[in-house]
Amino acid sequence: MTREPIEDEVLTDKPLPEPDHDDADWWDALHNKQLTVPWCRTCDRSWLRVTPTCPRCGLADWEFREAANIGSLYSWVTIHRALDPSFAGEEPYTIGLIELQGGARLYLLIAQVERELVAGEEVSIEFTTDLLPVGRLWPLEIQPGAVL
Ligand SMILES: [Zn+2]
Repeated sequence: MTREPIEDEVLTDKPLPEPDHDDADWWDALHNKQLTVPWCRTCDRSWLRVTPTCPRCGLADWEFREAANIGSLYSWVTIHRALDPSFAGEEPYTIGLIELQGGARLYLLIAQVERELVAGEEVSIEFTTDLLPVGRLWPLEIQPGAVL
């Protein structure tokens, strides 16, 4: 079963996700500006993308838990030629893979990247007027946990 793409109240020309049976609740929560992750009660770990069973132990003993709006930058890529016409004129832009508490990793557009990125640095996750959240960098000198 597939659902219609979430397009109501969304003012964007960007391609939008098409929620399916497995991840519709996750997208609904995101649409309400709530970041959640599936969390396995057996493994005590989280993951993304939403799947019917835990990718580690294979059990369906999991629940959605609210995730903190901060994660660490696991990897990233800067796009210099738009891969989709709706991003034309916005190059260069950076897509980051953000590791959340419990191990789930989330791809995000990183807003306003104006300096070198550092693997492991903290990224805050913010919601914009469209459906998809974006990552925002902290100035390096005020990284959470930074020694000043
Ligand atoms: Zn598990």
